[in-house]
Amino acid sequence: MSLLVTGGTGYIGSHTVVELIEKGHEVVIVDNLSNSSTRVLSRIEALTGVFPTFIQADICDAKAMSDVFSQHDIEAVIHFAGLKAVGESNEIPLSYYQNNVSGSITLFEIMAKFNVKKLVFSSSATVYGENNISPLDESMATSATNPYGQTKLMIENILMDLAKSDTKWSIACLRYFNPIGAHASGTMGENPNGIPNNLLPYVAQVAVGRLAQLNVFGDDYDTPDGTGVRDYIHVVDLALGHIKAVEALNDLQGCQPINLGTGNGTSVLEIVKSFKAISGKDIPYAIVPRRVGDIATVFANADKALTLLNWKAVRDLNTMIEDTWRWQSQNPNGFE
Ligand code: NAD
Ligand code: UDP
Repeated sequence: MSLLVTGGTGYIGSHTVVELIEKGHEVVIVDNLSNSSTRVLSRIEALTGVFPTFIQADICDAKAMSDVFSQHDIEAVIHFAGLKAVGESNEIPLSYYQNNVSGSITLFEIMAKFNVKKLVFSSSATVYGENNISPLDESMATSATNPYGQTKLMIENILMDLAKSDTKWSIACLRYFNPIGAHASGTMGENPNGIPNNLLPYVAQVAVGRLAQLNVFGDDYDTPDGTGVRDYIHVVDLALGHIKAVEALNDLQGCQPINLGTGNGTSVLEIVKSFKAISGKDIPYAIVPRRVGDIATVFANADKALTLLNWKAVRDLNTMIEDTWRWQSQNPNGFE
């Protein structure tokens, strides 16, 4: 299949591009490089033997996006492009609504114009809000607690309406749980700008000596050790979920929300313990107050992905941490 991958030089996008190329798909990447670099392209080439077609463009730019569709024969789109930092979204909400929601509408309009109606969209477990009890399943009510989450929910709702308005649309909204890990080669991984917001890149940077200590946000949750529990999923399993989804689009009805998670929960202190054992490095940490907006426990019911996509996550937590550490220790400054 020939695919447009928006945000394809980013963390999840780049791992998905590798798997797509390895399965024989043709890929065109569009990314504005606001949170990634073209250095990943030669890493993709080293792994796959293919230097992917790359277009530096913004999804908000209708003319540039129109040019992409007129110059390339696109059958389906995997749409990763978006801003993703929860804290930042509270500070600059308009940029989040503009980039994520308006940009997505622009992309969907151009897709409709070129009669490309197959889409896989990067949604998030954040759309389950704070009131549902894990395991979270796709039938549960959705809500959002911050502008980033609102953008994911708005885009999901737009896609539901779009699919209802025209049955030619076939859409998978993949709700990711917590993607971590890196390509097993150690040549590609997550490369956050500045101080990481997420747990795994933070712990990895403490282990490699770039950051002094981890702040554990609360140890008084109602969880086995008091620290937050999340469903960590290997980025390569996540990437493979996209391939299953894009290949299943012909058989999917309308717009389907689908969880991509493992169904297992792991606490912050369990992550610290495993990372320490695998890296052989000390991970100093301090318990600090809870982070505003965090909830105790989030993990998936991943049954729908198995039923509809014949997909389930197979990489365990040790593999996720070993791969994170290989990437971080071999590339202490990311792609620099
Ligand atoms: P990322 O920042 O590494 O990748 C996103 C890419 O999109 C970047 O390369 C960025 O430059 C590009 N981009 C942003 N705005 C753009 C625009 N207007 N036009 C063109 N390109 C643009 O993030 P990621 O972790 O790979 O996440 C990919 C998607 O998955 C995002 O939509 C994110 O919200 C979603 N998601 C991520 C997580 C996570 O924890 N990483 C969890 C749930 C959902
Ligand atoms: N966390 C933490 N310290 C950090 C970053 C995260 O203790 O520096 C905790 C956070 O409270 C949550 C878990 O780690 O319980 C995962 O947080 P992350 O930001 O990675 O993902 P999300 O909160 O979006 O699930």
